[in-house]
Amino acid sequence: RLRGGREDGHPFGPDATTHVYAVASGKGGVGKSTVTANLAVALAQQGKRVGVLDADVWGWSVPQLFGVRHPPVALKGLMLPLQAHGVSLMSVGFLVQGDEPVVWRGPMLHKAIEQFLGDVHWGDLDVLLIDLPPGTGDVTLTLLELIPDAQLLAVTTPQPAAQTVAARVGRMARDARMPIAGVIENMSTLVCSSCDAETPLFGEGGGARLAAGIGTTLLGQVPLDLPLRTAGDLGLPAMVATPDAPSVVELRRIAASL
Ligand code: ADP
Repeated sequence: RLRGGREDGHPFGPDATTHVYAVASGKGGVGKSTVTANLAVALAQQGKRVGVLDADVWGWSVPQLFGVRHPPVALKGLMLPLQAHGVSLMSVGFLVQGDEPVVWRGPMLHKAIEQFLGDVHWGDLDVLLIDLPPGTGDVTLTLLELIPDAQLLAVTTPQPAAQTVAARVGRMARDARMPIAGVIENMSTLVCSSCDAETPLFGEGGGARLAAGIGTTLLGQVPLDLPLRTAGDLGLPAMVATPDAPSVVELRRIAASL
């Protein structure tokens, strides 16, 4: 059923038994990659076989978030994903040298995404999380085409601007008949590390409004907290480094609900 999957003769592409979630946002900086990385680790900690495909071809952050950066090994014409914290990883960032810009356009992007699905030895995965670039560009379209059974996970902050652009992604998925798994509101409140007071720094209700607007459910609200940011910068997912941080507890709960 999946193009690039096993049925089409690609031995190791994600097949029909793999739950594929395409993690999308309307704009950058809302925490899409941070959410993806930590959901992946949480799912792996539940005993699932998990892969993360970093399809954010211009602004990849999976190498940084997982603290791995070296070229993948090739085996019999297939690339082996890198392993970190129980998760199989593939990212454009593993393939480019240093700060080289990636200047791929439509057809090359299409080919690259196709190869990431079909020419990577993902093995048998229970879950594949795809970290999409923000917005409704070529990569998102390609994935909709290659994996029509993928489900959309939309990440937004409570801010109206983030929510409005995320709604466009939701409508694009709906038009392509891609099922929508739900909305994750990130940076919902700022939790004070000394007094536990919560401040709605970016406003309130954006996640719920987005979910209602695209006809899906709000899966959870992840607070802003320091451990999630510092862990990302250190290259150790907060799900491992600070399992009790409020943001991590909520992300673990969301992962269990998927
Ligand atoms: P995106 O993938 O949407 O561009 P990132 O995941 O790169 O966003 O997150 C942007 C920045 O915000 C990163 O520095 C990240 O550590 C930080 N961040 C994301 N979510 C949170 C949160 N809930 N609390 C604190 N910092 C966060």
